[in-house]
Amino acid sequence: MAKKMKKVKKKTKKPRKPTKAKKAPRVKKEEKRESSLQNPVLVDVLHQIAGDAGLTVLKALEGKELTDEDLAKRTGLQVNLVRRILYDLYENQVVSYRRERDEESGWYIYFWKFNPDRALDFIRHHREELLRKLEEKLERERSTTYFVCDNNCQKLSYSEALENDFKCPGCGESLKPYDNSKYIAALEHKVQQLREQLRSGASGFE
Ligand SMILES: [Zn+2]
Repeated sequence: MAKKMKKVKKKTKKPRKPTKAKKAPRVKKEEKRESSLQNPVLVDVLHQIAGDAGLTVLKALEGKELTDEDLAKRTGLQVNLVRRILYDLYENQVVSYRRERDEESGWYIYFWKFNPDRALDFIRHHREELLRKLEEKLERERSTTYFVCDNNCQKLSYSEALENDFKCPGCGESLKPYDNSKYIAALEHKVQQLREQLRSGASGFE
């Protein structure tokens, strides 16, 4: 009994806790910029996902919660197009929705929201994929000898060069071992860059 009392007392003794336990932690200025449409990298990737119209929709949606019809009105786009864009963005987890049943019609109304943080996750995932592919490519370049003619028609593997009697299938010139050290160095540089971006997390998007 006495122990319990003590515990209760201790709990009530912390006056600072309510103010500290605010839902969203204060966001640093640069982080705020990171996950907004002021971040050029984010804009670029979103543009790749959703195109010009998609970006228009996201700009209208930023910081708000809107229905597809609201969005059509605000952007001047056809509501069908807005819907298609929203579903695309939803599949990429860039937007989410909350639905409410309309008392009168009994239909659901969807309120859409833009999630820039999810979009940043998407970029991160995209970069991880790219890194994986580049690492594979680098490994392949390091372990393979390629052959090429003086005219640089095309790079051939050893077995391909052998099949062609060490003559270029394009121009007929003789094939020579291809020096890929510059290419390897460029790949290494890119891999290094991506690793650093991924390590530094959000700030790597600057
Ligand atoms: Zn050639």
